[in-house]
Amino acid sequence: MGDTRVTTTDAELLDRFADLNIWRRGDERAPHKPLLLLHALAALQRGEARLIPFARIEEEVGKLLSEFGPPRATRPEYPFWHLQSDGLWEIPERATLQADLDEAPHRHNPRLTVIRAADAHGGLPQDLYQELRARPDLVNRIAARLLEDHWEPSFHDDILDAIGMPYVQVTRRRPRDPAFRDTILRIYQHRCAVCGYDALLGTTDLGIEAAHIHWHSHGGPDTEENGLALCANHHKAFDRGALSLDNDHHLLISQHLRDTEGARDWLIRFAGEPIRDPQPGCPRPAAHHLDWHRSEVFRQPARQR
Ligand SMILES: [Zn+2]
Repeated sequence: MGDTRVTTTDAELLDRFADLNIWRRGDERAPHKPLLLLHALAALQRGEARLIPFARIEEEVGKLLSEFGPPRATRPEYPFWHLQSDGLWEIPERATLQADLDEAPHRHNPRLTVIRAADAHGGLPQDLYQELRARPDLVNRIAARLLEDHWEPSFHDDILDAIGMPYVQVTRRRPRDPAFRDTILRIYQHRCAVCGYDALLGTTDLGIEAAHIHWHSHGGPDTEENGLALCANHHKAFDRGALSLDNDHHLLISQHLRDTEGARDWLIRFAGEPIRDPQPGCPRPAAHHLDWHRSEVFRQPARQR
């Protein structure tokens, strides 16, 4: 910790942010630290103070976690405390919080009441903060890498808007197989598997996309068993967990979806319906990919018909 020097190369610095991946547990999504870092990097890009009050992190990162995190209980105090161990975070009130942990070592992090009472702050270490203040290009690359490693592309603009990041161009470091899109659209006959939408503008598909079921950013393969052709609306709903499939390929619609007129027309009315199958002889979505989607993305529980 605290060993950042101006001699650190850009690649080394990027790796320190990317190495957060080692905290992933198996196949589970763990976007807590990436979201806290993106929140801090956005504040840095806007020229705000290095140390951010926990009260603000609790509110703002808590909101980001519930919107962009996995569909299970997530708490901002977890990354707030544990990001220290990556050497990318500093808490001036650390001793007070550590004393609370020492009292009860079985705890995963200091108690929320103690963090609040200590009026704790957190931020990037001073030398790293200074270096990044002078290097907006590098902040962009780090933010792009965090987004690419932890979310599907349909999330990137929404997350950047939510954190108020001035500018990031996501470069595709991990190439996507262009044949995946072509194959998936062909086997689903260029129609959304949920609603059948199949518009063409001239000879070009308009708003039909190939979705990965087990996210490409999380190691999901470019195979027919891991793809679905979806219209842009249903693709977003699928990536955000408003929509999923059971292993018999019937549609699951999240109960968290507000019952509005648009939601009824576009999503709720499909609850329990089978998807449109791919062409005969082509594989349907595989159960192990659907399992991943339901446990890591879908906002349980599903609505009843
Ligand atoms: Zn659709």
